[in-house]
Amino acid sequence: MTKKQKNLLIRVIAAGAMLLVLALLPLKDYPVVRFLLFLIPYFTVGYDILRKAGKGILNRQVFDECFLMAVATIGAMILGEYTEGVAVMWFYQIGELFQSYAVGKSRRNISELMDIRPDYANYEDEDGNVERVDPDEVEVGSVIVVNPGEKVPIDGVVIFGNSTLNTAALTGESAPQDVSVGDSVISGCVNMSGLLKIRTEKEFDESTASKILDLVENASSRKARSEQFITKFARVYTPAVCYGALALAVLPPVVRLIMGLAPMWGDWVYRALTFLVISCPCAIVVSIPLSFFGGIGGASAQGILIKGSNFMETLAQVKTVAFDKTGTVTKGNFKVTDVHHAAMEREDLLEMAALAELHSSHPISRSLREACGRELDQGRVTDVREISGAGVIARVDGRETAAGNLRLMREVGVDVPECHSPGTIVHTAVDGEYQGHVVISDEIKETAREAMRKLAAAGVTKTVMLTGDKESVARAVAAELGIDEYRAELLPGDKVTEVERLLKGSSEKARVAFVGDGINDAPVLSRADVGIAMGALGSDAAIEAADVVLMDDDPVKIAKAIRIAKKCIRIVYENIYFAIGVKLLCLLLGALGIANMWLAIFADVGVMVLCVLNAVRCLAVKNL
Ligand code: ADP
Ligand code: MG
Repeated sequence: MTKKQKNLLIRVIAAGAMLLVLALLPLKDYPVVRFLLFLIPYFTVGYDILRKAGKGILNRQVFDECFLMAVATIGAMILGEYTEGVAVMWFYQIGELFQSYAVGKSRRNISELMDIRPDYANYEDEDGNVERVDPDEVEVGSVIVVNPGEKVPIDGVVIFGNSTLNTAALTGESAPQDVSVGDSVISGCVNMSGLLKIRTEKEFDESTASKILDLVENASSRKARSEQFITKFARVYTPAVCYGALALAVLPPVVRLIMGLAPMWGDWVYRALTFLVISCPCAIVVSIPLSFFGGIGGASAQGILIKGSNFMETLAQVKTVAFDKTGTVTKGNFKVTDVHHAAMEREDLLEMAALAELHSSHPISRSLREACGRELDQGRVTDVREISGAGVIARVDGRETAAGNLRLMREVGVDVPECHSPGTIVHTAVDGEYQGHVVISDEIKETAREAMRKLAAAGVTKTVMLTGDKESVARAVAAELGIDEYRAELLPGDKVTEVERLLKGSSEKARVAFVGDGINDAPVLSRADVGIAMGALGSDAAIEAADVVLMDDDPVKIAKAIRIAKKCIRIVYENIYFAIGVKLLCLLLGALGIANMWLAIFADVGVMVLCVLNAVRCLAVKNL
């Protein structure tokens, strides 16, 4: 509990005890003393509410919950219903206390779950002295020491030692990762075994851990439509309720007067005050942001970053999912299965292709480098031009070398012999002459098939694969995974067109998601209703471009994200309907004079507690 909460708790207990004593004291014959005595617990428990209401009036933002409570309780005191007046304030504060405790607890839960905030860095100076410093002070290019058991505070490259890192806090999955000299490490991982020295490559603020925390903490600033609705609703609702209460207090007695009956002012004013207490909207105002906060936080702990409540809402309505192929449903880990060489030796062809690809970040590039096996000299490569969805053109040893697909060969005006090998083909041409091609094939991710099944179970009715790869490869992958539709040989721009076509065919309630790995598909990620980037660990581009970021590259997480969103949205609407339903019922009873203030405050605080408890369920998403 925070100091503020403890303070409030003490006030609540003290006021409760006083109220009890006053209720038992025989004060009937001393009305003034009785009034003054009741003021003590009233102010003890409610002074801050009264102050806030007063401030609201001064700032011309009159109509909020504090105002409702202040008017209702002051009114009750004036009517001589002292016990009710104090009790309403008392219960209201218990509700406040409960709610602030619940919010604080979920906040703490989330930061515990997302235990990636580094507190310090061990800075090593030139003489080898190690000093513990604030990670903010470490400059790019410094050396830091990470002992076993410590968190990596800043992104960098290992320059000494080898160890195993635990990425669980980032990905939600405990997949240990072996690192040794030369490997990149990202902040937020925990060093499990050996001492590591790391040369930092980023500022602390720019490091993965800081960026992720930033993202999670700011997610709630992008409001969902239900949240915006509540804000608008409250703006109209509270004043409406106040005027309604005023009418209820004034009109019936006036009518009665006209009809020649006793006006019964006291009764009607009391009913109007009850009406005010009942209509306090705090259950909704509190529980909806808490639900989104919990859902987003719980998802983060599973390695699913949702950048705002609005995306939570969209995710819950996803009916069509479009995928990129390479790196999304396949591993992006191409193996060379064949080399058809004409003019050059096999080894030389591989080397030319690998050299041309040396600077590319495409998965194909890495595979060629690995398959080549020779030491590749960067100095031999100049004038690199990468053509998205086609390949690379570069000067190798001064000769123009093109490595890529048919489209690229057409571009450089080279005729290509037919090849029927199954797999992706990297054709190579040097100085406009065809040299042969490398056949490579990718593996489908182990969990991809399960991912498709789970998507269907999560309510996705259509899956579409969009790829720049050959028709035959696309067909095989789509068939193997049971993907409904596929489009092949697309340029990155064509993918945008395809997604736009899907968007056109969908409605408000049937949203389109695009899932990619962030490599050359940023435009599609932002064009879809919701863009999901996977395998984002260490890829800034993907984190920037997407609305939802999956830290690891497990496609099963897509369905999980949708499920989390659905659960969260369901809880939000449960709370809205429940709270409004109970309120309407009580308002009716109050207007008819059946409900008294006791029932009103019980309904108000009770509904709020139930809504908050329900909202807290949003955090529990582990087993979805
Ligand atoms: P996907 O849609 O499967 O993610 P891309 O759009 O990244 O695929 O690439 C589509 C096709 O373009 C690849 O299958 C490959 O034939 C070719 N290609 C793209 N980049 C390269 C590269 N760096 N080297 C060779 N071929 C490439
Ligand atoms: Mg791709």
